[in-house]
Amino acid sequence: MKIHEYQARELLSNAGIPVPAGEMIESVESAAGAYKRVVTEAGLGEGGLAVVKAQVYAGGRGKAGFVKLVHSESEATDAARFMLSNRMVSPQTGAEGMEVKKLLVAAGVEIAKEYYLAITTDRATRRNVLIASAEGGVEIEKVAAERPDAIIKEPIHPLLGLQGHQARRVAFALGMTGKQVGQAAKIMLQLASLYQQKDCSLAEINPLIVTPATGEAPDGTVLAIDAKFNFDDNAMFRQHAIAELSDPSEANQNELRASRMGLNYIQLEGDIGCLVNGAGLAMSTMDIIKHEGGTPANFLDVGGSASEEAVTEGFRIILADKAVKGILVNIFGGIMRCDVIAQAVANAAKEVGFSVPLVVRLEGTNVDEGRKILESAQASIPTMQSAGDLGDAAKRIVAAVG
Ligand code: GDP
Ligand code: MN
Repeated sequence: MKIHEYQARELLSNAGIPVPAGEMIESVESAAGAYKRVVTEAGLGEGGLAVVKAQVYAGGRGKAGFVKLVHSESEATDAARFMLSNRMVSPQTGAEGMEVKKLLVAAGVEIAKEYYLAITTDRATRRNVLIASAEGGVEIEKVAAERPDAIIKEPIHPLLGLQGHQARRVAFALGMTGKQVGQAAKIMLQLASLYQQKDCSLAEINPLIVTPATGEAPDGTVLAIDAKFNFDDNAMFRQHAIAELSDPSEANQNELRASRMGLNYIQLEGDIGCLVNGAGLAMSTMDIIKHEGGTPANFLDVGGSASEEAVTEGFRIILADKAVKGILVNIFGGIMRCDVIAQAVANAAKEVGFSVPLVVRLEGTNVDEGRKILESAQASIPTMQSAGDLGDAAKRIVAAVG
């Protein structure tokens, strides 16, 4: 599960990590007032620096022009108008981009240096790991790929947690000096306990910054000015406050619709829709489609106990996807009965109609009943073919899609 940056900043702030003041807005008209309040709160006054940032579940906003520094109410208004009326396209959004519905207006800060700081779970070592780099800011993925030595990794003990000496060592390794070391180490420790308490799978501050030296703070101040959190979906039963932060308008609408019916659906970019029972079988179905030269349009596991209504909804979702040029149904009936699937095919044919080729492979529980239902529905589904096995099914649908 993901949350917006403005919510992530609040989590950081509640955990004691310093973050500039900010306000979430949803309209162009609110921008001027929000600008005025955040600069006033930060003691900056008229003409003070603020930043307007698109709130979407995707990164790379800075490079895409969706993080803008502003110095007045009118600049804040212009930035808000631009972001709320253009789709954001970044390497993380796909070519169609994302609609922006929420913005963050935050007090701006002067930056002397940007760092990267994150905690995630490292499956290889089966531990949480603190990741840091002095090459923070944008494009950390590029740094990691091209100069892996610029990335510091510190394993976190599963019972003891991140230790003070580890955090200080990382701060020194980042090249921090004087009072920066203590401030950064404290932030690392706070981030590590937040990660643990909230069942995160990623807690990232990019950039963590040091501000320029001033009279009162000759080493500058360490602050978080961007934050991204992912949470373990399996922990939501005990993280009610976090679960409530989820923004349904950011989710893929088909995925949301499927999850309401207890279906496990993930939208992909190909043109062969798949309806399968069981996650493992769904993955091998996608593999074999690829093997035969096709590309799956989705992953869909209807599970073992889906009702006829749920499976019919699965067909509705696949058929509503304009990219779908053919559908492969692959059922190995164990708990799931073949006749339930066949009935759902017949329902979907009646209700929506299969305008695209459909290949059905049924095997297992109640397969004879299932085949009978399909035979009587065949007349109303002229594009339907039956397949003997999975290999045959994949060949047929790839050939039919062309
Ligand atoms: P992202 O591109 O989606 O990760 O968005 P960020 O919030 O990380 O912003 C991208 C970049 O904009 C940062 O790396 C900074 O260089 C710059 N930036 C963001 N906020 C401020 C700010 O308050 N002051 C200054 N000077 N630069 C900022
Ligand atoms: Mn960032």
